[in-house]
Amino acid sequence: MSLFKNLEHNFDYITLILKLNGNMCNMRCAYCNSHEELKDLNNINLNNIFNYLAGFKDYKNILVLFHGGEPLLSKPEDIEAILDFACKNLINKINVQFQTNGLLLDDKWLNLFKRFRNIISLSVSFDPPVGDMRRYVTSQTGNYREIVMNNIYKFMGIIENIGVISVCHKYNINGFKNFVCSLKEAGIKNLTINKYRPDIKNINNFYISEAEYVDMLIDLASFWIGQKLYKKINIQPLNSLFAGETNKLCLFKTDKDKCFAFRTYFNAAKHYKFCARMADAKVYEMSKECLDCKIFSLCGGGCPVEKKDGTFCEARFKLFNFINFIRSVGDADKKFES
Ligand code: SF4
Ligand code: SF4
Repeated sequence: MSLFKNLEHNFDYITLILKLNGNMCNMRCAYCNSHEELKDLNNINLNNIFNYLAGFKDYKNILVLFHGGEPLLSKPEDIEAILDFACKNLINKINVQFQTNGLLLDDKWLNLFKRFRNIISLSVSFDPPVGDMRRYVTSQTGNYREIVMNNIYKFMGIIENIGVISVCHKYNINGFKNFVCSLKEAGIKNLTINKYRPDIKNINNFYISEAEYVDMLIDLASFWIGQKLYKKINIQPLNSLFAGETNKLCLFKTDKDKCFAFRTYFNAAKHYKFCARMADAKVYEMSKECLDCKIFSLCGGGCPVEKKDGTFCEARFKLFNFINFIRSVGDADKKFES
């Protein structure tokens, strides 16, 4: 079954990933292969971006996601012009998110975000401290962790929806329980924990298997439920998995067109009708093994671009057995307290 179907006909929901400065980044995290050197930012073609955005005016729900690299390397006046255009011309429901490492959240951005506070959310890339020595900052001095947390506190005053997104890898996999507690203390209500997913050509020391990731999730879920932390902080993918809602998480979504609910725009010459991770995957066929699998409706086959390791399917079965067990208990508190 080809995934390249019905791409132009679903006007309900679209995520437009704008990578206006490509993969340029002010950090050099050792586990990230996509950072590029800082370059000239003067060649952003605003008219082309406006035309591109206008092509989505019929969609009922649009999420404009400023991504990178680090999107706050862009000029605030360019972003302001784009937001003004989007608010005036994309008249259906629009939300805007910045996927940022949090270091450049200064007063310029604060003032700009105030204007658009009703539609803006921040997703700050921040990991448990045990892996910090592998996140390298190139353009700023001071304590990286303190700078980011202070910036988050400052922006909490104007933006309601600030979440943290973490990469779980070999060096920080045991740090998530403490990390969840510290985020809860800081008043952060949403954490997403993604597995480190390297380009298959770049498997390295950060690598963890699906089994290791699932074991971490199960252990963390038991703690989160047992300590009633779920009342204070959402953790993805746990919240969606327990709720049985996979619609927001592409890694678990069953929809065969799931990767095409995203568009990726770099510039006038380079934009894709799918998530940037699929850029090299010219054609994708959902494997028969997945389509015939008895938990496909739960698992969704994962990410089509990811080369699944030998533990993948067994780990996913284990995860859904755990989720089903907790859901079948009905009252998770009682189960974990007994
Ligand atoms: S468990 Fe494995 S075979 Fe089954 S849907 Fe998931 S990835 Fe596909
Ligand atoms: S290619 Fe992978 S990461 Fe991108 S939308 Fe599809 S499942 Fe998600």
